[in-house]
Amino acid sequence: MTVLTQLIDELNAGRLRVVDLSHSLGPDTPVIGLPPIFGASPGVSIDVISRYCDQGPAWYWNVIHMGEHTGTHFDAPIHWISGKDLPENATDTIPPRRFVGPACVIDVTADVQRNNDYLLMPEHVAAWEATHGRIPAGAWVLLRTGWSTRTDAASFLNVHADGPHSPGFHATTSMLLAKDRDVLGVGVETVGTDAGQAGTFDPPFPNHGIMHGAGKFGLASLRNLDQLPATGAIVIAAPLKIANGSGSPLRVLAIAPA
Ligand code: MN
Repeated sequence: MTVLTQLIDELNAGRLRVVDLSHSLGPDTPVIGLPPIFGASPGVSIDVISRYCDQGPAWYWNVIHMGEHTGTHFDAPIHWISGKDLPENATDTIPPRRFVGPACVIDVTADVQRNNDYLLMPEHVAAWEATHGRIPAGAWVLLRTGWSTRTDAASFLNVHADGPHSPGFHATTSMLLAKDRDVLGVGVETVGTDAGQAGTFDPPFPNHGIMHGAGKFGLASLRNLDQLPATGAIVIAAPLKIANGSGSPLRVLAIAPA
């Protein structure tokens, strides 16, 4: 028996299961807001071409329109200026091997309940590794915050008079994960891989700058991270093969012990 036939047998027997880490994508999908001096990403629109009608009597299909960074989505290194000149940095040129890796799930839900601006620090990674072992090269590091339970757009984006408030990574942690641990990338439950207040940090949006400058990826607006073990699951996250794309909505799947 090969490992692939064993994988299917384990799935069929229910000893492994496929966990969907994605949100539904539609007109209600919240989109990140930026200061009005910057270009804005539109929301999702879905327009029917035909639905068993005169325009197509036996078939149903739609036109979809949205920004690349909408809903559960992938950030490619070319998304950020720090990664703009790297090789294999766009959705169509990243080698597909790099879409698959083991998941390391760091649960900071309780911290985020106390502090919506929580930043993962290197000492938190060290504490996680003391329990679960060193984060291996090529891992997806998923920050479990409970944020995906905020199902209305206002509480999900959590914008106050001084801007959005949501958790993320301290720059030193992004450096640790990108350089010392050589991860594939990081995944979050929030609208983007930087903290809500990261536009005010020095430098701004450090996780994007550091991760993408190191050729690493981002996954945003994940859900169901509470269904994954801290280690032992694998994540498959392959963006649409958009020519020179900076990212795309995608279906993120994990295979986890039942
Ligand atoms: Mn993005």
